Amino acid sequence: MLTTHQLTKLYEEGVSIIYRRNGLRGCSGLFDPGTLEATIYLPAPSPKERQITLLHELIHARDGQKGARIFNTRLDDDVEKEAQQTFKKNPELIQFIVALWKLPY
Ligand SMILES: [Zn+2]
Repeated sequence: MLTTHQLTKLYEEGVSIIYRRNGLRGCSGLFDPGTLEATIYLPAPSPKERQITLLHELIHARDGQKGARIFNTRLDDDVEKEAQQTFKKNPELIQFIVALWKLPY
């Protein structure tokens, strides 16, 4: 589970979060380990989907896949599972992220 401690560390390390329109087809978000940029594509199907994508990309950031983008479906399923569990057990983490990174929502 993603924690406030981990999120604070990511923020301090320079991870940034960017909302962008017109995502790649079928891609709701992306984390680039080279630039430490987490991109969330808009519009998301729902606010909940957008928030889970936010958690998902920050879990990638925490896992620090430096130097290589990993397109591994099985691994990504695990990340998505953790994002869903984090959202369910600790939904207020979203407000923490929004406040820390000063996101619009
Ligand atoms: Zn992923």
